[in-house]
Amino acid sequence: MTHEPGSQFPLSLEHEALASVNYLTRLVEPETGFTFFDVYLTDPAEAAHDWPDFLDVPGRSAEAAALVRHITGRDVETETAFFSRIYSFQEDDGWFWRPETTVTRHEMHPEEQALVLGALLSRAIGDDDAEAQGRLTRLVDALAAWAAPVGPFGSMTLRSVVRAHEAFGSRSARSFIERVTQRLTEEQPLFRSDGTFAGHVHSHLHAAAGLAEAGRVLGCDAVVEWMDRVFRAMRDRSTDFGFIPELTERDDDVIACETCCIMDYIHLAIALTRAGHTEYFDDIERTVRNHLVESRVQHGDWLPASPDAMDDQLIRRRGVQRDVIGAYAGWSSPNHILAYDEFLPPAWLKTSDLAPIYLHKVRALQNCCSPSGAKALYLAWQHASVVEGSTLRINLLLDRALPEAEVRGGEPWEGTVSVRLDAPLTVAMRLPRGVSPKAVAAAVGDRPVPLTPRDGYVETPKLDSGVTVLFSYPLHERTESAVIGNEGYHQYEYTVRWRGSTVLSVEPGENACLGRSRLMDQPVRLYYGKEGPHPLYQRAGLLAGSPSHRHLHVSRGPGVW
Ligand SMILES: [Zn+2]
Repeated sequence: MTHEPGSQFPLSLEHEALASVNYLTRLVEPETGFTFFDVYLTDPAEAAHDWPDFLDVPGRSAEAAALVRHITGRDVETETAFFSRIYSFQEDDGWFWRPETTVTRHEMHPEEQALVLGALLSRAIGDDDAEAQGRLTRLVDALAAWAAPVGPFGSMTLRSVVRAHEAFGSRSARSFIERVTQRLTEEQPLFRSDGTFAGHVHSHLHAAAGLAEAGRVLGCDAVVEWMDRVFRAMRDRSTDFGFIPELTERDDDVIACETCCIMDYIHLAIALTRAGHTEYFDDIERTVRNHLVESRVQHGDWLPASPDAMDDQLIRRRGVQRDVIGAYAGWSSPNHILAYDEFLPPAWLKTSDLAPIYLHKVRALQNCCSPSGAKALYLAWQHASVVEGSTLRINLLLDRALPEAEVRGGEPWEGTVSVRLDAPLTVAMRLPRGVSPKAVAAAVGDRPVPLTPRDGYVETPKLDSGVTVLFSYPLHERTESAVIGNEGYHQYEYTVRWRGSTVLSVEPGENACLGRSRLMDQPVRLYYGKEGPHPLYQRAGLLAGSPSHRHLHVSRGPGVW
């Protein structure tokens, strides 16, 4: 995709969220909310229902649909079906159970409670919805009576329980938070003291976001500082543009960015900004402007299609190319929507007779990630600009409309932020990385506005309602090299061209096109070079012409997260 002059728009979190609606309403059975976890790079491409499609993906999708509605002010048609589906699985004990089916056993999985909790919170807080609040209370009571989790997956419950505690003040939630925090920091620590860890990044960062919030709520500064080291350790293992690995300390040649990990990385960063690390808004902004939005599937041309394709009970083959638009990458490389060819392991299956459906097929997408992309957008949108007391705080230099002010960011065309005030406010703009307070100017019309630097922001005096203040700052272009790869294995190099917080291009070096995956018997094809499915960062021509603004939905946001 090239950009025609005059067709450019500054990044709009709302527009990005609306782009999820196609996926959320199409890659699902719309009446039942039965999602498709797997998309395979077969000929024709196949989408398959799988065990995560009972609670995991529908739970995430219910939350995403509600959050997209809050961001955009528009309903997502399948939201009710997603909620009805997960509600049908809550039993008398308060837990949400998988049913007994061809692909699932009647089981309760703690990590799936975490995903359902997110959905319940999106309505319980966002809509003040009595049914969601009642179900949330029953689940939190069940968690409080449970032995605290061991390992990263069950620990994903913590973040939501902290939020439920803050929103509704439950005492059972508080006892759960105290017990889990002690378990995960003293008895069976999830992280090394330097913040590093090995293995599954999504669950670890999700738990770290929960621990950072728990540390703040419990007044345990040492826990917050430990989670700060976790964030920094993971940032060191990621790129500046938000490529966050799915697995860390992996012992083979393959590495990919999972969108769920981008979401958790942003969630952990936001938790730490509440503890004073507002400099992490810069990491969030670079991640959102670049690898988060690039991880969204723009088209289905990379997936084979056949006019004769037929659907089966568990597999959809018709219209998959159309349905995946608006999904998010499960395993992106820095410059392709898929980093390598890999199959599922046999242990994935309930019974071996399911092998023809799930095994020996290249996985193109895993749809935990698609609702996670929308949730990541919500996290950025809710915190981009906020009014605290009589101050408008601009944390992300992106478009955002609040009842009190409309904020318009000028990057990557120019280093500007324009703010129209609809209430008398002081305006505090976060300093982009590398920009000193002295390099920022502000003016209302021709009249300069004095700025006071404070804790990484520059602040105006109180300004009148009705004025528009324009901040200007230098926008630097630079070229950097980025290297990804697991320590001791193949490394992959890229040349990354930046303008301010926006990546203009990602050019691969002479990267290997075959490598070893520990899940596979033979070396696998790699997409770290020029060739590969669904190229990313097709931003040539972005700077031509002048950008137009999109309409913004005016909302303070429900403060779910
Ligand atoms: Zn995922």
